[in-house]
Order: sequence, then structure tokens, then C-alpha cells
Amino acid sequence: MVLINDNDLKPLYFTMAVAALSFLIKRAYQSTDVYDFFNIKKKCNPFPQSQSELVDLLHYQKRMVFNKSIIETLKYVDRKLFLENENVENPYYDEPKPIGYNATISAPHMHALMLDLLADRIPMSNGVALDIGSGSGYVTACLARLMGCTGRVIGVEHIPELIERSAESIKRLDSTLLDTIQFLVGDGIKGWKELKYDIIYLGAAIESLQVARELIDQLKNGGRIVMPVGKSNDFHELMVVDKNQDGIVSIKSLGVVRFIPLTSKENQLNPQNIPNATKVTNINGEKTLIRCEVIPAPDSNSNNSIKEFESLLNQNK
Ligand code: SAH
Repeated sequence: MVLINDNDLKPLYFTMAVAALSFLIKRAYQSTDVYDFFNIKKKCNPFPQSQSELVDLLHYQKRMVFNKSIIETLKYVDRKLFLENENVENPYYDEPKPIGYNATISAPHMHALMLDLLADRIPMSNGVALDIGSGSGYVTACLARLMGCTGRVIGVEHIPELIERSAESIKRLDSTLLDTIQFLVGDGIKGWKELKYDIIYLGAAIESLQVARELIDQLKNGGRIVMPVGKSNDFHELMVVDKNQDGIVSIKSLGVVRFIPLTSKENQLNPQNIPNATKVTNINGEKTLIRCEVIPAPDSNSNNSIKEFESLLNQNK
């Protein structure tokens, strides 16, 4: 028989207590509130009537956003201020809304998901972000809030009237955000070569990875791009491009989404091109209504081409 002295167990008790305590501290740090802490499902209004209800729906129910600072930022940046006008119906519903010029403000879940994907790469200070196809300015405002007063955010948009309106919306929300934002009228496909970026957000779909190469070149080591990729009227794939500290690029596809394309101004303003936020698509013989939701890729065979493109980019590193 082996006798265990209580004193022998003391180090074990101590280690267990420290482990439990550090688990609780970590959990408290990551949780937004008691619901998160205790993992309780919060009841959410499926038809949100306020920004706060909308973000709760995206966080607790749709599970689109987890990062605490992104959640706080989404609550701060009130979507209603970024819509085409004050009379738009149901401003807080989780759906894209027209903003004129054949463009839409993306659905809130898409803003939430894409910003959440960028969260880890947002530097504590002196960060630089690029928002391509800035449209309503919603994402530009979020990025400026997240980057803080030492950050810098460049918004590129090819419709000058949208830039004007987005600057007004941001001013109504919090005019200090404009101190760190610079809007540029131009073709977002090329990015803006004057700077290198920690994060790049594409609010419209880029045709292919090859076309995105210029943007990948503008990414800093350690940076991340989140972008929809695909030809204008197809499904697009939501891709995450990472550049590590040695400049090696890795690309991941997360699934299928539907955006408006990055295109020429003439093509976008052509009255025959309606915004494709919602479409009827044939999936396995069934008519399916598609919104900008992430759904499992029905026909994604991009993994091989992603690998090929990665090795092309990384061959001299
Ligand atoms: N994140 C924005 C998305 C707006 S929709 C939001 O939620 O409001 C996409 C935007 O891309 C539109 O405003 C459209 O005018 C713009 N766009 C399309 N092609 C472009 C291009 N080649 N260069 C710059 N902007 C472009």
C-alpha cells in the first residue's frame, strides 16, 4: 500500500488552482458579457430594431463575429447613418441595401465576418488599412475606429458622389474619425501603391487571384487581405491572403459569397446591370435565392489553383 501524504499533493492542488484561475481570467478577457462568459444562448430579435440588437443577432445567433473589439466597433458605427437616406425601411435588418449608383452597402453579417477575420492583424498603433470599394463608408469608419488615432485608413471608391456621402455619414457619427481617413477617387483594382498595408478589405469582388497580385504586393509582411474572388456574375469565393514575416504568402478559401464586382464605372452604371446582392441561382436543379451569405461551396475546385498561385508568388523567397 502506498500512503500519500497531504503535503505531497499540495503542489498538485496549487497547479490546478493556477490553471483554473488562468482559464477564468482568459475567458473573462475574451467574453463580451455574462452570456459569453457562461456560454448562455441570448435570445435575439431576428428583426433588429437597433444597431445593438443587430450586432447581438450577428454575435449570439448567427455566430459571424466573436472578437470583442470588432463587436464594440460594430455597435458604435450605426448602420442607419450610412444608408442612402433616413427613410430606408428596416435599417437594422441583416440584408444589403441599395446606396445608389448600382451599388449596395453589404449585409451586416458580411461586414461582421470580414472584419472579424481581420481582427488579429490590426496593429495596436500606427496601423495602415486599405478599404477598396468603400461605398457607403461603413467599413472605412469601422477600420478608423479600430486603428485608433495613430492609425491611417485609405478608402478607394470610383464613384465620387459616394465618397462625398460617406464622408458626411462619418462626420455625423464621429467627425474625429475623419482625421485618420483619406478617401481617394480611383480604380480600386490597383489598390494605392503609395503605401504598404497591414490589412486590406475588399468590399467588391475581384476577378481572380492573378488580378489581385498588385494588392498582394501592397501587403506588409505579417499582413492580411480578406476579399471575394470570382468573375462578375458568378459566385465569388471569400479568400483570406496572409503574408508572413518572411514575405511568404498563403491563401485560404472560406466558401461562397456574392458581392458586386470591382469593375469599370461605365459597366457599373449601365442600367442593365442591377446590383447582384440577391439572385436566384440554380443549385442541384433547385432554384435557390442567394444573398451575401457564406454557404458551403457547391462547385469550388479552387484548391489546386490556389496552391499553384501560392508557389508562383513564393518561388524566389
Ligand atoms: N464595403 C462597402 C461595399 C460597397 S459595394 C459597403 O458596405 O458600403 C462595392 C463598392 O465598390 C461600390 O460602392 C462600387 O461603386 C465600388 N467599386 C466597384 N468597382 C470599383 C473599382 N474598380 N474601383 C473602386 N471602387 C469600385
